[in-house]
Amino acid sequence: MKVLVINAGSSSLKYQLLDPSTEEVLAQGLCERIGIDGRLTHKIPATGAKHVFEIPMPTHAEAIQAVLDALTSPDHGVIKSMSEIEAVGHRVVHGGEKFASSVKIDDAVMAALEECIPLAPLHNPANITGIKACEKVMPGVPMVAVFDTAFHQTMPAKSYIYALPYEYYENDKVRRYGFHGTSHKYVAGRAAAMLGKPIEELKLISCHLGNGSSITAIDGGKSVDTTMGFTPLAGVPMGTRSGDLDAGILEYLMNKYKMDINEMLTILNKKSGVQGISGVSSDFRDLEEAAEKGNERAKLALEAFQYSVRKYVGAYAAAMGGVDAIIFTAGVGENDMGTRMAIASGLEFMGVKMDVEANQVRGKETVISAADSKVKVLLIPTNEELMIARDTAEIVGK
Ligand code: AMP
Repeated sequence: MKVLVINAGSSSLKYQLLDPSTEEVLAQGLCERIGIDGRLTHKIPATGAKHVFEIPMPTHAEAIQAVLDALTSPDHGVIKSMSEIEAVGHRVVHGGEKFASSVKIDDAVMAALEECIPLAPLHNPANITGIKACEKVMPGVPMVAVFDTAFHQTMPAKSYIYALPYEYYENDKVRRYGFHGTSHKYVAGRAAAMLGKPIEELKLISCHLGNGSSITAIDGGKSVDTTMGFTPLAGVPMGTRSGDLDAGILEYLMNKYKMDINEMLTILNKKSGVQGISGVSSDFRDLEEAAEKGNERAKLALEAFQYSVRKYVGAYAAAMGGVDAIIFTAGVGENDMGTRMAIASGLEFMGVKMDVEANQVRGKETVISAADSKVKVLLIPTNEELMIARDTAEIVGK
């Protein structure tokens, strides 16, 4: 079965055409500058070919049409006709409390997605636009929504409740939701396979460390706590996002510098994190280079990030009453051996012993802890698209 996976942003759209049963990726790419002018980058993994086209994309509908044209093109296509695409899986950021699993899209689901917009005003409108554009260009093809928040709906109330007046939860749905759920779920499944144990018997801590980062405690295959919260701003410091901070700081800075909430939020979302601390970059490669050259703030940014991740790993081991394996995934987790080592160093007290040699690896499923490490440490490349395609195939197949 061939499934088209769509991840629509406000002015961009990522896609992958894949067969979830063989895991083969037939084509993948990116539409950029939607609503401005339009550029399509189309790649075919089997041949390594890469094509770039300048195509007018006033809306997401033209972008989807450009993707379909590329996929079916006699020159650089991978399928003969659109009818080979049996289903479309859409990444949707926020499913609120309504969606604890992926769902086939119909009118009622679309209405519920619209209701979730206030919870994710930056992301959900783009996801909805992507779905509507697909419906327009590919009428009749079944579509599935896969939510970033769904995996975390198993969290117990004590994990998701904020210590605010309870009415804000009851009336306004203010609670921890958590994000990166598709990634955490995927790597947890792979960890169980690597360890050769049923996931129901495992306590896992998965560290999705990328431009955005979140840590999740997974007990028996279920998310029981996670660092991101009501929005993806919470938790560890990220590329440009602050992570956790004292809400009192907002009042202090907003009063002192006469900022409104939008200016404050721009600072918290776009100018903070390791970028904010270092003043150098949000990219860990740049930070490491600067730190090596003696830049103290770059060094501090890296240390603050590593310390925060380590602290949450310790907290989640305590929350679950133990841990069998710690997982590293996403851009930083998969590629940055130094950061992995720095996070794990200091966890020896709870039975973590790294294998320095094994840790010298990038982007490949590997056990990076020593053979006698009580807690296993695993590097697992994430694959959200495969997860979305699998859920889509399963739901459409039913
Ligand atoms: P993601 O959001 O998962 O795509 O991760 C993107 C981030 O991964 C980038 O901003 C980099 O900081 C980080 N990254 C990618 N490759 C490396 C590498 N070789 N070493 C350190 N960090 C890396």
